[in-house]
Amino acid sequence: VAEYKVPLKDMSFLLYEVFKADEMWQKLPKLAEQVDKDTAEAILQECAKIAEQEIDPISRQGDEIGVSFKDGVVTTAPGYKEAFKTYAEGGWTALGGDVNYGGMGMPKMLTAMHEEMLNSGDISFALYPVLTAGAALSLAKHGSEELKQRYLTRMYAGDWTASMCLTESHSGSDLGLIRTKAVPQEDGSYSVTGNKIFITAGEHDFTENIVHLVLAKLPDAPAGPRGISLFLVPKFNVNEDETLGEFNNVSCGSIEHKMGINASATCVMNFDGSKGFLVGELNKGLACMFTMMNFERIGVGIQGLSASVRSYQNALEYAKDRLQGRALDSKVNGVKNPNQEADSIMVHGDVRRMLLNMKALNEGSRALSSYISMQLDYATFGEGEEEVKGETLAALMTPIAKAFFTDLGFENTVAGQQVFGGHGYIREWGQEQLVRDARITQIYEGTNGIQAMDLLMRKVAGSKGTMLKVFTDEVNAYIESNQETQGMSEFITPLAQAISDLTELTTDLLTKSESDINELGTAANDYLHIFGYTAMAYVWAKMAQTSLTNNGESGDDFYQSKIHTARYFFTRLLPRRLSLIASAKSGSDCLFAIDDELF
Ligand SMILES: Cc1cc2nc3c(=O)[nH]c(=O)nc-3n(C[C@H](O)[C@H](O)[C@H](O)COP(=O)(O)OP(=O)(O)OC[C@H]3O[C@@H](n4cnc5c(N)ncnc54)[C@H](O)[C@@H]3O)c2cc1C
Repeated sequence: VAEYKVPLKDMSFLLYEVFKADEMWQKLPKLAEQVDKDTAEAILQECAKIAEQEIDPISRQGDEIGVSFKDGVVTTAPGYKEAFKTYAEGGWTALGGDVNYGGMGMPKMLTAMHEEMLNSGDISFALYPVLTAGAALSLAKHGSEELKQRYLTRMYAGDWTASMCLTESHSGSDLGLIRTKAVPQEDGSYSVTGNKIFITAGEHDFTENIVHLVLAKLPDAPAGPRGISLFLVPKFNVNEDETLGEFNNVSCGSIEHKMGINASATCVMNFDGSKGFLVGELNKGLACMFTMMNFERIGVGIQGLSASVRSYQNALEYAKDRLQGRALDSKVNGVKNPNQEADSIMVHGDVRRMLLNMKALNEGSRALSSYISMQLDYATFGEGEEEVKGETLAALMTPIAKAFFTDLGFENTVAGQQVFGGHGYIREWGQEQLVRDARITQIYEGTNGIQAMDLLMRKVAGSKGTMLKVFTDEVNAYIESNQETQGMSEFITPLAQAISDLTELTTDLLTKSESDINELGTAANDYLHIFGYTAMAYVWAKMAQTSLTNNGESGDDFYQSKIHTARYFFTRLLPRRLSLIASAKSGSDCLFAIDDELF
C-alpha cells in the first residue's frame, strides 16, 4: 500500500493561485486578525504530518478490529484513543472554533482541507472530531451564553466530544415523526426521554464526557417538523465549579455491525429522564440543527473525496509497478519495456481511463469544495452584498457537495479497486476498505436522494430560480470576460454550452412541474449531477486558466499536468451531462404509469 501523501501542492495552488484566498482574508476585517498565508501554510503542513503519521497508520487495524461493546461500555480499536489525544493536544479540535470561547476562528477554506486530510487518513477517526466541530458550530450560533461557557470551551479544548442525535427507528429522512419527549422542569431544564439509533460517536472511550445534541418534542408541541426542539444533553452533568457531576442516564444499548467505517462507533442511545438544556428557541430545533447539518453535509462530501484520493494514490503506485500484457501499439511503435516480460499496466488505455477519471474528478471536487467553502467564508465573515451572495451560493451548493462528491467518491474507490484487479478485492491492499468506507457517505447526513430533492425542490424551485441565477450570472460573467483569453476557448466554449443547457433544463422542469410536481422528484438525481458537472467545469476552467498563465504547456510539471487533466475533464467527463439531460427531460410518466403491483 502506498503511504498517504497529503496533496499539499494542489491545496496551495487552489488557495493562493486560483481563489486568491490570502487576498480575501486580508480584505475581510474579521478574518484578517486570525489568518494570513504564513499561518495557513504552517497549519496545513502540521496537519498533514498528523494525518500521514498518526491517523493513516491506524486505519487498517481499526477496520480489522473495529469497535467493541460489553455491558454498555464501548471500546475503540487500538491506537484510536491515543491518536485522538495527540490530535487534541495539538489544538486541532479548536481549529474552526469561535475565538470568544477558545476557538482559533480559521476560515472554512482551511478547515475543509484539514478535513480532507483527516478523512483520507481514516474516515472512522475523522468522524469523532468533525462531528464535534459541527455540534460546536450549532452551539456557538444558537446556544445561551451559559451553555457556551460551560460546554463549548471544553469541546474546543478536546476534553469532550459531541454527537448528533436525530434518527429514531421509525424516523430517518422524515424527522417530523420523532417521538423523543422533552418535559419542562421547574429549574428551566428539560427531562428528555427516548431512543435514538445509528448515533455516530454516541459512546466511546476517548473522553470522560460526551455532549449530545438531541432532537425532541415537548408534550404539547405541534405535529411534524414544526414541533421539533433541540436540546443539549450531557452524558455526565456538569457542576457549578465545572467538575463532572452525576451520571445523566444517557446509555448506549448496543452498537451496529456495519459494511464499513468499522472503527466508528454507531450506537443505539437511550435517554431516560436525562437532564437537557434548550438550544435556540422552542419548536425551532430543526433550523438550529441545520447549522450543524449543513456543516456536516459539506464534511461528508469531503469524506467521499478523501476516500477517492487515498484510493487513487494506491492505484497509481500499483499501476506503475504491475506488469501485465503489452501496449496495443507495440507492433507499430516498438515494445515499451523490452527488458521485462511485460509492460506496466499504465500502458493500457482502460487503466489510464480509470486513473484519469479519478484524478480529474478528485482535483475537480477539491476545487469545487474550495469554491463552496469560500462562499461559506463570505457568508460568515463578509458583510453586505458579499455576505448575502456567499450565503445564497453556499446554501445552493451544499447538497451538490454532499451528494455529487460522495457519488463520485464511491465510483472512484471502485475504479481504484478495479485497477488492482483481483488484488483489489482481497483485504491486503486496503482498496476494498475504501470502497466499504466510502459507501456510507452516500447514505448518512440525508441520503443523496434527499440532497437532490433539497437542491431542485427547495433551493432551485423554492426560490423560483433566483438562487440558481446568482450562480449562472457569475459563471456567465466569467465566460464573457474570457471569450478572448488566449488558449482558453477549448474550455470556455463547452462551459458556456453547459451553463446554457443547465439554465434551459431548469426552465423546462419548473414549467412542467406546474402541471405535474412529480417532474421534480423524478428528475432531481439527474439534475444534481448535471449541475455538479457544470459547476466542476467552471472550477476546471479557472484551474486551466491559472495554469496557462503560469506557462503551463511548457512550464512546471504541475501546471502541465493540470492542463492535460483539464482537457481530459472537458472532453471525456463533462459530456456525461448529455445523457443525464436526456434522462431528466424524459418526464415522470414512465415512472408512475406502472402500477405498484406490476413491479
Ligand atoms: C453508519 C451510520 C451512521 C449514522 N450516523 C448518524 C448520526 O450520527 N446521527 C443521526 O441522527 N443519524 C445517523 N445516521 C442515520 C442516517 O442519517 C439515516 O440512516 C439517513 O438519514 C436515512 O434515513 P433512514 O435510514 O431512516 O432511511 P429512510 O428515510 O427510510 O429512506 C429510505 C429510502 O427512501 C428514500 N426517501 C425517503 N424519503 C424520501 C423523500 N421524501 N423523497 C425521496 N426519497 C425519499 C431515501 O432516499 C432512501 O433511499 C447514521 C446512519 C448510519 C448507517
